[in-house]
Amino acid sequence: MNAAKSHSVIVIGAGIGGIAAAAHLAQSGQHVTVFEKNGRPGGRCDRFSKDGHHFDTGPTLLVMPLLYEAEFAALGFSLREMLDLQRVDPTYHLVFDDNSRLELTSDMKRMHDQLERIEPGSFQGFLRYLDEGYRHYHLAMERLVNRDFRRAGDFFSLSNVPLLYKLKPLAKHYDNMAAYFDSPRLKASFTFQDVYMGLSPFEAPATFSMMPYTEMAHGVWYPKGGMVRIVEALVEIARTAGVEFEFGTAVEKIMIDGDETKGVVLDDGRILKADAVVANADLPYVYQKLLPEDGNARKMSRKRFSCSTISFFWGVDKAVPSLPPHTLFLADDYRGNFDSIINELSLPENPSLYVHAPARLDSSMAPAGEDTLIAIAPVGHLDEGGEQDWKAIRNQARRAIFDRLADLGIRDLEDHIKFEVNYTPLSWRKRYNLVKGATHGLSHTLTQLGYFRPGNRHPRYHNLYFVGASTHPGTGVPTALVSARLTATRLLEDAADRAVSAVNGKQFTAVAV
Ligand SMILES: Cc1cc2nc3c(=O)[nH]c(=O)nc-3n(C[C@H](O)[C@H](O)[C@H](O)COP(=O)(O)OP(=O)(O)OC[C@H]3O[C@@H](n4cnc5c(N)ncnc54)[C@H](O)[C@@H]3O)c2cc1C
Repeated sequence: MNAAKSHSVIVIGAGIGGIAAAAHLAQSGQHVTVFEKNGRPGGRCDRFSKDGHHFDTGPTLLVMPLLYEAEFAALGFSLREMLDLQRVDPTYHLVFDDNSRLELTSDMKRMHDQLERIEPGSFQGFLRYLDEGYRHYHLAMERLVNRDFRRAGDFFSLSNVPLLYKLKPLAKHYDNMAAYFDSPRLKASFTFQDVYMGLSPFEAPATFSMMPYTEMAHGVWYPKGGMVRIVEALVEIARTAGVEFEFGTAVEKIMIDGDETKGVVLDDGRILKADAVVANADLPYVYQKLLPEDGNARKMSRKRFSCSTISFFWGVDKAVPSLPPHTLFLADDYRGNFDSIINELSLPENPSLYVHAPARLDSSMAPAGEDTLIAIAPVGHLDEGGEQDWKAIRNQARRAIFDRLADLGIRDLEDHIKFEVNYTPLSWRKRYNLVKGATHGLSHTLTQLGYFRPGNRHPRYHNLYFVGASTHPGTGVPTALVSARLTATRLLEDAADRAVSAVNGKQFTAVAV
């Protein structure tokens, strides 16, 4: 161990939050080791390659670029220097059930023409909606996302009371759309982003209008080489700061003694002591599998979990240039879609679907003349009763995707697929230890946000910390970066407090003697 380093910290998991927290801590003089059960870093921000086809298996959209820039700067690096970013505009090509389209773009003239065609007068509603999104975004970033809530008083303070009407947390996002649009298709076009929080717009707080706002105003971006470049950049930053990584090594237990952790037990039997442990593995899983049973794991499993996905990764032997980078088939039965996913834990009859063609953004993602396609159907998470027939549901999802692509004139795709890899909720659970295979972890209902969300430090074990999607502030790559900074700050402040009390304690003892 480096003599100049003060404390030893073990990080469980090399997801975005784990790598970034490790980097912050090592930059502040801690001796940090990251143990990752998989053979590579990234967690859900994962990649696989086959026969010259490259697939980002998790995130495909770099959204909230201002957060990325701020968090890379907090680590002492420039996002734009480390990553070759291009703006994706139009962001999404939305396709409705009758094959009519809406391209979401920052070109306001085109937005005007398209929106007025769907609903006369709606462009003014759109501008007012963006205005609300602007207010929600800036307030939420300042007051909810970029700070943690260590005590109830931090959240339930007089200064936060105005947020109850300014951020509309008590209004449902979809209901709130009536103030801006009549057309159900337009209401859907500017609320579907709630799925990224694992939520239905029929239950999400209207606060989330900040998501369509940031996509329109700050853009959706794509790093050349794919989302995995973010992981590579973070690992480089962490290694430069002295973080050590051990891949293919799972933590089996977090050792607890009284009100503190003493370190971890690894799956190869090694017992490692640490001054502090940071768990980046999915928080409900940590309670279920790594901590002593004390009733909290059961409480955690009763919380609301986000939805999951069935994802298809296709190597295609011909290019499909008519497919834009991000196509979203938005089903007219929008409410029914969310009902089947969230309440019935199933796949809707006519599901909304997402198809990503990364080679439109970076030709190196597929061999010349061929294509790389990712298709995603949101589905319910795993039902602990085990009633879901994933083979049948997966086949139904695949059929639905081919049918919708055929509606766009892409009829022979099936004949050109060289290979398919697919993930169901069972795969998400197995690969990343996500409880219920919920791709976005704990969902972001009002009662699981802010102070109500599990915090960045364990409520009892004072040197055990959490970072990532199921803790504060929530899911998403940029939010995992924020979570990492908040967690590292808290750990460092706690360590400093303990050092001061230790010194004071000694002085007191000396006087007493
Ligand atoms: C299909 C899909 C699409 C998404 N799309 C987007 C998007 O477009 N944009 C966006 O911003 N976000 C998106 N997200 C969300 C984003 O990927 C996640 O919120 C973020 O990557 C989570 O990071 P994390 O820090 O919580 O760590 P995780 O990714 O959960 O990583 C935790 C790590 O811990 C490891 N681990 C677990 N148990 C152990 C153990 N016992 N010992 C050692 N290691 C362990 C896991 O293997 C994993 O590597 C998407 C997610 C999915 C699944």
